[in-house]
Amino acid sequence: MIEAGVKNFVVEKLPPENLLKNCFIVVNDTLKALQSLAAYHRKQVQAKVIGITGSNGKTIVKEWLYRVLKDDYAVFRSPKSYNSQIGVALSVLQIQKHHTVAIIEAGISTINEMEYLEAMIKPEIGIFTNLGTAHNDGFDSLDQKFKEKYKLFQEAKLVIYNADAETLASKIASESHAPALTWSLNGHGNVNIDLVENEANERHIKFDFNSKNYDLCISNRDEIYVENLCQVAVTAAYLGVNPKALSTRIDDLFQLSARLEKLEGKRGCQILNDAYSADLISFRLALNSFDNFCTKDKRTIILGDFEEDTREKDALYCEIGALILKHGFSRLIFIGKDYPWVGKVLDKRIETMNFSTVQDLLDSSILQGIKQEGILIKGAHDYQLSKVADSLAQKTHQSVLEIDLHSIGHNLRVFASFIPAQTKSMVMVKSGSYGSGLVELAKFLQYSLVDYLGVAFIDEGIELRQNGITLPILVLNVGVDQFDSMAQNYLEPEIFSIYQLEALGEFLKLKKSRNYPIHLKFDTGMHRLGFVQNDILTIQGSLFKYKEEIKVIGIMSHLAASSEPEHVDYTNEQGRIFKEICDSMEAFLGYKTLKHLLNSGGISLFPDLHFDLVRIGIGLYGIDGNPKINCLLEPAHQLKTFISQIRDYPTGTTIGYSRRGVLSRDSRIATIGIGYGDGLLRHAGNGSFSVMVKGKKAPIIGSICMDMCMIDVSDIPNVQLDDEVIIFNKEYPIDNLAKALDTIPYEVLTGISPRIRRVYIDD
Ligand SMILES: *Cc1c(COP(=O)(O)O)cnc(C)c1O
Repeated sequence: MIEAGVKNFVVEKLPPENLLKNCFIVVNDTLKALQSLAAYHRKQVQAKVIGITGSNGKTIVKEWLYRVLKDDYAVFRSPKSYNSQIGVALSVLQIQKHHTVAIIEAGISTINEMEYLEAMIKPEIGIFTNLGTAHNDGFDSLDQKFKEKYKLFQEAKLVIYNADAETLASKIASESHAPALTWSLNGHGNVNIDLVENEANERHIKFDFNSKNYDLCISNRDEIYVENLCQVAVTAAYLGVNPKALSTRIDDLFQLSARLEKLEGKRGCQILNDAYSADLISFRLALNSFDNFCTKDKRTIILGDFEEDTREKDALYCEIGALILKHGFSRLIFIGKDYPWVGKVLDKRIETMNFSTVQDLLDSSILQGIKQEGILIKGAHDYQLSKVADSLAQKTHQSVLEIDLHSIGHNLRVFASFIPAQTKSMVMVKSGSYGSGLVELAKFLQYSLVDYLGVAFIDEGIELRQNGITLPILVLNVGVDQFDSMAQNYLEPEIFSIYQLEALGEFLKLKKSRNYPIHLKFDTGMHRLGFVQNDILTIQGSLFKYKEEIKVIGIMSHLAASSEPEHVDYTNEQGRIFKEICDSMEAFLGYKTLKHLLNSGGISLFPDLHFDLVRIGIGLYGIDGNPKINCLLEPAHQLKTFISQIRDYPTGTTIGYSRRGVLSRDSRIATIGIGYGDGLLRHAGNGSFSVMVKGKKAPIIGSICMDMCMIDVSDIPNVQLDDEVIIFNKEYPIDNLAKALDTIPYEVLTGISPRIRRVYIDD
């Protein structure tokens, strides 16, 4: 960590003397220290904090609530299922000044845990999702479990829950710490919800709140679904989301696939993969979805151990067995140690088999024997049942460029840690966000609260506006014939010539526009576009003429060699000239502007040149030449394809066009589905570049074709059809390909053809 540049440590024991040049803070217990820090941070937070606990549905309620609130509030939510002693601390510490609502999930597994979570979360509003029998191991009784969970709300101003959940409701009523906001489908809540079905067989929930009528269409009939949705709807109504907005946002929710993953299987199978949790409630949900999805008569269920109270195993598996029979399964494959319980129930009624681990199942040939069936996979996270789904699913032969939004968010935070808090950040999304998808990235960045976006041309700016991007947008190159569409879309031009400046002034005068925001671009050494110092008087004359129409919101320049250490002096000279220009321009204007100079490469190297805003481009994707920051960034791209054919050839065989690949030994050659038409240029052929198969390098042999190329896999054991082939990813950085092509990562990324599918990964 010291090598990676970490300067300060919180530890329980001091390390050896020779490391003591860093700062070490010694504490008794690092976890408690982290939690105290989070609790302290919580005290500074302005946001309304919503705490969620309960036995089931915490993460779903959190995610849905986030989605229905995010257009009205700057919402923070705990990432993934960060609800543990460490997870909550890390969540709370990420709440920032600009957030107006923070949704934090709290999960406990035994007594004496909640008090620590409560001290960090201090929720103003509490949501108690439900009190189920899941994860009962750590508690003596239901009452003890309830009391422990309820500690979260000891200082809450309001607790929201389902009045129809009788046990929960009566227990909360007897505690009565906080005022309650209850809802009910049976007429005994503070909010009474009607569940109605219209002629079109659509289900709606209707209720009144603050004299507004809410009418929300719900597309799923399951009880649990309705319960989660009611919690979310009532909370959103309480926070002032209006009926119309809530209704469209709830429609949108159902477009999102739940955790259940539907897959096309090999050998004509249909697969529903729900390898996430294993408790009765989610099991019933999965069965219902499976019934809707599966059109096959023959059905197999692959199940892992359930995570419920050990003392109730008989009853639990009796119910599970009954459900399996009721939903028409004819085969059970059980993975884990609980098999005897379910086996007892199902024995001889359907075909059953048991494996102790996922690997045992994969090593058997059972899965290959399943044809033309519906398969439901259901189990707890740690059973790695997803591997079973992978092995059953039909592989696609399409190449994909995966963009990891989680890494991009991380990289944004890394850059933020290098710039002062008051310095803003602009992200350059020109050229389709460097090949990663203009609109998709912009939406993510808008949600990530960057301050500005930058594009090269007006069309890109218009596309962003048409897709709901409201952030300020800088356009680097606006033609004088494009001012109309520029103004209609409120795009901010970079102005780099007197001709442009005068034309814009005249245009705005004609339109009677006032204070139109522009950025003046100066050339301080790049010699591409921009005014020079000698133009200043002329610019000022022109600006004076249009002082009503034009507002200089920004002054900018661009560095020629920001990331190259050998040009440090040149860069500093550019910085010096830029400062001079800004001083004289601001003195003339009589107001402050946003001064911006740095691109990604300069951010970590030139702390004196941050000015008011930095323009991040390539660094967003985890690519930066400077080791000091590079080791902190995460590469965000993975370009991969698949093997379509494997064959063995004797020495002397030639491979591909013009017979350029000549085999110097007996070889095993695989054909893969990517070529120069996709952006893997011919220069990378004939051994100059290797792709990765099963973590090993496989050189490209012969010339690259338009849609395919051939690789040598002789030295890689067990290569099979459909195996994944990595062109670049986190472990095998894009620089390798850039070097082979004698270019830079920018060109590789922007050269990836649009026909390659972009897939966005997020939690
Ligand atoms: C593209 C661009 C950037 C971003 O550059 P990176 O090196 O990708 O960070 C910044 N400013 C201007 C003017 C640009 O054109």
